[in-house]
Amino acid sequence: MGYFKKELARRQVRQEGRRWLFVPYDQVTDQTGPLSREDPKHLGIALVENRWKAARRPYHKQKLALILANLRHFALEQADRGVAVRYVVAEGPYAAALEHLITELGPLRVMAPAERELKLDLEMLATRGALQIIPHEGWLSTADEFRKSNEKAPPWKMDTFYRFIRRKTGILMEGGKPVGARYSFDVENRLPWHGKPPAPEPPSFPVEPIKKEVGELIRKVFFHHPGRLDLEALPVTQADTERLWSWAKKECLPLFGPYEDAMSHRSRSLFHTRISSLVNIHRLLPSRVVADVAGMRLPLESKEGFIRQVLGWREFVRHVHKATDGFRNLPGGKTRIEKTPGDGGYERWAGKPWGSSKKARGLDGGAAPCALGCDTALPPAYWGEPSGLACLDRVVSDVWAEGYSHHITRLMILSNLATLLDVRPRELTDWFWVAYTDAYDWVVEPNVLGMGTYAVGGLMTTKPYVSGGAYINRMSDYCSLCSFDPKTNCPFTPLYWAFLARHEPVFKSNPRLRMPLATLAKRGIDKRTRDQDVFKKVREILEKGSMVTPQDLPSR
Ligand SMILES: Cc1cc2nc3c(=O)[nH]c(=O)nc-3n(C[C@H](O)[C@H](O)[C@H](O)COP(=O)(O)OP(=O)(O)OC[C@H]3O[C@@H](n4cnc5c(N)ncnc54)[C@H](O)[C@@H]3O)c2cc1C
Ligand code: SF4
Repeated sequence: MGYFKKELARRQVRQEGRRWLFVPYDQVTDQTGPLSREDPKHLGIALVENRWKAARRPYHKQKLALILANLRHFALEQADRGVAVRYVVAEGPYAAALEHLITELGPLRVMAPAERELKLDLEMLATRGALQIIPHEGWLSTADEFRKSNEKAPPWKMDTFYRFIRRKTGILMEGGKPVGARYSFDVENRLPWHGKPPAPEPPSFPVEPIKKEVGELIRKVFFHHPGRLDLEALPVTQADTERLWSWAKKECLPLFGPYEDAMSHRSRSLFHTRISSLVNIHRLLPSRVVADVAGMRLPLESKEGFIRQVLGWREFVRHVHKATDGFRNLPGGKTRIEKTPGDGGYERWAGKPWGSSKKARGLDGGAAPCALGCDTALPPAYWGEPSGLACLDRVVSDVWAEGYSHHITRLMILSNLATLLDVRPRELTDWFWVAYTDAYDWVVEPNVLGMGTYAVGGLMTTKPYVSGGAYINRMSDYCSLCSFDPKTNCPFTPLYWAFLARHEPVFKSNPRLRMPLATLAKRGIDKRTRDQDVFKKVREILEKGSMVTPQDLPSR
């Protein structure tokens, strides 16, 4: 930290007589909260670079670099504004690190943490009055609005919430009616992408001394964490954020809607904006992206499609997480809780336990609901072992290259296959949590447990998101790279039918599954037996970390 320390020291101002604020790793903004309105000359911020937090799970190197480099740059940016900065390196819970500062500086304020983990960590300090929790101003809706929008909940419905918030905020509304006479244009947004129009190349960002120093730290201290470190792909300053957002507005948003569900091996993000990791640390405010897009001249299906993601889905998942205390309290009673943080299958893949398990003690490992009673281990293919399924291998390699892949690859490749294989939902959630740069408990848990795997049943989605090979072939070009043929021997298709057959007792009263279950009923006994044989074979091969080939599958 030599360079960073020197730069911070050079900018430091008098620290006495300030009102101090703790700014967590995911609140690095001066566009909201006390930093946006109080005089910098009277303000001080405490920032904690926490190696204990980093060691709790095998987080992707890129994610650690994103957080640390943004935190350090934020420290310098605030010091440049005249805010006093205390930058602490901690090796234990946040509460312990702040305790020392509170003794010296007096009580601190903090905007309510988004992460449940951090909230619990700070609870004791808050109860004692040493830390004052003030409202988090980054959200676009309140718990009260969420409750009012879904009065009969649970189950919660995203669409009902989204309509309520559109009416309440007036966003994309005209004379009390939705612009374009519909709240959603989703049905128009289902084009596959065949290479044209060309997908935009994501911007790269300068590798300046702070980022370089963080890169060295990652290589020295966090070398054993998985994933590739790609410093050029990493936005770390407010200026980088502005650059990414300008790129997204100009290059991605005009075609965001039509190709929203497409997947391709030729482009990792297609027309998706790549902003989630910056929105989740508040470099880019959700209110700003929604306002900007609402004010842009864009085809309505793209404008509405994007706004629904941020104003609708992002807010909705956070409310469900909060209302269920991270899926600990479900309508059917309490859920099983893992005692320690899961490694997402790291140990099985790496052949050794995640190195820092001792340091991980303290907070639990999250709720482990499992409505379908699944118990398959997450295959090593998710850690980069070739599986022989081109779609999976391609997306996994994208994720370990950068800590990112877009929504449909997360849902219809990674979660889809795991669900079809009856993978333990908690283990998959932990994998997503460590592998993606935008993952935090409040967002990853609802997306994986609630949406991706049906682990909480119909609590927030009306049906499981699963498909066979025909859907993947229609919406992507992955099959052109595969030794399987989507029309004849792709394992996804028998896996899909085997999944419906195994869980038919749970699904049979679900009106949204009436059609596929009727088709399943017409499937002859030979086919149904083969479906289950394919399931057993593929699961066995992938669990061992081997590759599936067409010859491995039972004959038709
Ligand atoms: C299994 C699974 C796991 C996921 N895990 C995460 C996660 O850990 N963190 C995360 O931020 N998103 C998660 N998502 C949601 C979504 O996939 C990502 O937000 C999106 O892919 C980020 O890429 P982007 O910025 O290019 O998004 P775009 O497609 O450009 O969308 C714009 C923005 O909308 C918001 N958004 C869209 N969908 C969601 C959603 N379902 N939940 C929350 N925000 C949403 C994000 O802020 C995103 O940046 C997950 C989805 C699935 C299916
Ligand atoms: S053929 Fe099947 S396994 Fe291969 S890429 Fe296509 S969907 Fe995936």
